[in-house]
Amino acid sequence: MNCPRCGNELDTRSTAGIAAAICGRCAGACLHKDDLERAVRLFATEQGIVLKTLTLLEGPARDTTLPCPQCSTLLQRLTLRGVEVERCAVCQGVFLDEGEGRALAQRAVLAAGEWDRAYQTLLRTVRTWATPAPNLGSSTLGTSPAVAMALSISGVQRPA
Ligand SMILES: [Zn+2]
Ligand SMILES: [Zn+2]
Repeated sequence: MNCPRCGNELDTRSTAGIAAAICGRCAGACLHKDDLERAVRLFATEQGIVLKTLTLLEGPARDTTLPCPQCSTLLQRLTLRGVEVERCAVCQGVFLDEGEGRALAQRAVLAAGEWDRAYQTLLRTVRTWATPAPNLGSSTLGTSPAVAMALSISGVQRPA
């Protein structure tokens, strides 16, 4: 199997359940999209982030003249989270230049981290809503316009 970029023989490696064919000359990497997803998830775990969803946000594909090292189909160039990669539509292999894999993982993880923070904020808000109204009927009640409105809708009189 040869590198689509420089023609050098690819070196197949497997680490932590992720298989990839690496080019020793240009440092490109060829891996199946499932292995790419595993690599992004592993990177996230190393960063202490649990990825709930992983969307690589695929941009439009353009044809290239580079052959797939696995099946010789011409690769398509597309962007995943703003990182340009080559992909084989037949065998679902993804070819990444040096550094692209890490950039892709970082962007995917960053987006997931932001989403996670937004989710945590949402959870806190919902918990605040779910907190029972304190001391219904006591003199502390009725200071908030929202409480006053809720009381008027339910027909409860505000204490004097
Ligand atoms: Zn190469
Ligand atoms: Zn292929």
